[in-house]
Amino acid sequence: MTFPATDLAATRTPATPAPASTPAQYARSAAHEPLLDVASVTLRYKTPRAVITATERVSFQVGTSDRMVLLGPSGCGKSTLLKAVGGYLAPSEGTITIKGRKVTEPGPDRMMVFQEFDQLLPWKTVLENVVFPLVDARGLPRREAIEKARHYIDKVHLSHALDSYPHTLSGGMKQRVAIARGMAMEPDILLMDEPFAALDALTRRTCQDELLQLWQDTKFTVLFVTHSIAEAIKIGNRILLLSPHPGRVKAEVVDVDKVSSTDGSAGRLEKDIHDLLFTGSEAGH
Ligand code: ADP
Ligand code: MG
Repeated sequence: MTFPATDLAATRTPATPAPASTPAQYARSAAHEPLLDVASVTLRYKTPRAVITATERVSFQVGTSDRMVLLGPSGCGKSTLLKAVGGYLAPSEGTITIKGRKVTEPGPDRMMVFQEFDQLLPWKTVLENVVFPLVDARGLPRREAIEKARHYIDKVHLSHALDSYPHTLSGGMKQRVAIARGMAMEPDILLMDEPFAALDALTRRTCQDELLQLWQDTKFTVLFVTHSIAEAIKIGNRILLLSPHPGRVKAEVVDVDKVSSTDGSAGRLEKDIHDLLFTGSEAGH
């Protein structure tokens, strides 16, 4: 079920049938093939003791330049979904396709940014961390790779730290390098798994603002995972709400860009999403 951000409250009134989809979404899906299509995907972990179902029949689509957020409580399978889109885990049921190609393995068309600060190569400088995959995975000539790396490092405001090693950087700087590294690859989609969750509140806000500014500049496509409702509303233009373990789609909120923190609509949406996630009322039922 898809709901416009400004009218999510309608989902709390079962008597009001919610629209099947917004006109904007119909228009988009009719006009183009989605960039990313996750179709009825069930993901399981087989451990020696048990089979754990992380997500069950999750479906969603991401269009070019979407900022799609996967939002749900800890353990609902957000990271598992992102890993599956990354090609690190095969679905037990369903399919994942990027530009019509089935995802079967990791590839430079999908770059990941993680929460952990240790995702950089500690023995390489900031510049070399960004250059390395450009040469190694994209096969760019070194001179071209350096030029591209410098461009993206500049975009995350780290030109002064080109020759620094990761252990000398703050958490926020490390995350910016990881974002520059991912963006420099110019992937079809950037996959971000709670990239700012381990940062202090002020740095987190700065990093969120910078990411949005980067999006304004380049209109990249991102699939962003968070368990913070406020962060989801700030970052996303669409939000997929997942139920607790195993993760199922509760609702999809579209037109999130239309809410604003100045007129109170973002606050109302935050409350509506909170109620939807935690009161157990399943959208569309
Ligand atoms: P989230 O990112 O939403 O917090 P995860 O995707 O990390 O959730 O986990 C979803 C479920 O899958 C959880 O129940 C978790 O315990 C389980 N899980 C995650 N990784 C593994 C693994 N490697 N082996 C077994 N179970 C796992
Ligand atoms: Mg996670």
